[in-house]
Amino acid sequence: MIWEKMVGHRDQMRRFGRMLERNKLPSTFLFVGPEGIGKRLFAEGLAEFLLCPNRDLANLAPCGRCPSCQQVQSLNHPDLLIVQKPDDKNVLPIELFVGDREHRSQTGMCREIRVKPKEGSRKFAIIDDADYLNTESANVLLKTLEEPPPGAVIVLIGTSPQRQLPTILSRSQLVPFSPLTSNELWELLKRDSEFESTAPLEELAKAAAGSIKVAKLLSDPKVYDFRSVWLEQLGTCDPGQNDFAAEIVKFSGAGNKEGAEKRETLYFIADQGLIFYRQLLNRLTGNQVEGDENLMNAVNSAAESWSQSPAKIAHAIERLTDFQSHIEMNANAQNAVEPLLVDLRRIATGRDLLVLRI
Ligand SMILES: [Zn+2]
Repeated sequence: MIWEKMVGHRDQMRRFGRMLERNKLPSTFLFVGPEGIGKRLFAEGLAEFLLCPNRDLANLAPCGRCPSCQQVQSLNHPDLLIVQKPDDKNVLPIELFVGDREHRSQTGMCREIRVKPKEGSRKFAIIDDADYLNTESANVLLKTLEEPPPGAVIVLIGTSPQRQLPTILSRSQLVPFSPLTSNELWELLKRDSEFESTAPLEELAKAAAGSIKVAKLLSDPKVYDFRSVWLEQLGTCDPGQNDFAAEIVKFSGAGNKEGAEKRETLYFIADQGLIFYRQLLNRLTGNQVEGDENLMNAVNSAAESWSQSPAKIAHAIERLTDFQSHIEMNANAQNAVEPLLVDLRRIATGRDLLVLRI
């Protein structure tokens, strides 16, 4: 059973339980929350449950053994449709929804979902990477969301409501997911017999801030060590020493990484910066600070030398978020990293940014 692999998200389970009990299941959901916390696994589990002919409604459990359950587990159930961003694309292309130009409206998710279910009583569609729906794809999807076939369930998966188009937001039932706690993540990592890490699992779980995806990245000692140095730099309130911008660029392209993989590494580095500044803000405003030892040390050291108002930290957070959006739009790493570090230094020293340079 897919849900057996999941840890956490009990509130969301209860919410679905209540909707099903009342027999009031909306057709479209938008799952939001950080990457790598199990939203997709939750959606697949929901598909397994709703498509299983032997499901146990009281316990919200599919049987896990029938042909339908097995087909969902191997993601080849004829009534389960999955749309996700191809690795080489920056958007969810329109072709995935309505077919290519030569076969418009003859293939694609919007057509498939209207075809009578082959085995069960409904179709179930998962639209992963919904942050990357562009206007063109969203427009063709709207009709399906407005008039879904009877019983069909569509789950869009994104990271935050702010990243969704208003037309999608207004037609979906929002289901927020929280990051896993470090204990939940630790539990997951312990269970995974294939997961290996040189860093102690408990520290790794804390460092990954509730994301299994980040935990997997950090299980590579090179990534773990690079993060430690990056946090040390941020902890000095003077990031960029020893030509660290060049180090970041080199690290993001290590092993000849290109395109999507390179962007992902830069995104991760910026994310670690975001986590650092959020925790620094917590520390300076007397709130609880959470994280592994490396993060705590960096935050404590920055808190001692931080000479500005804590409100300035919002500028650093905004600057890093801005950097992430530019990286997603394929900005050249060399051109984006150096100005980022210069600006983070300026923020820490109290010189306001005149322009946000990219
Ligand atoms: Zn079953």
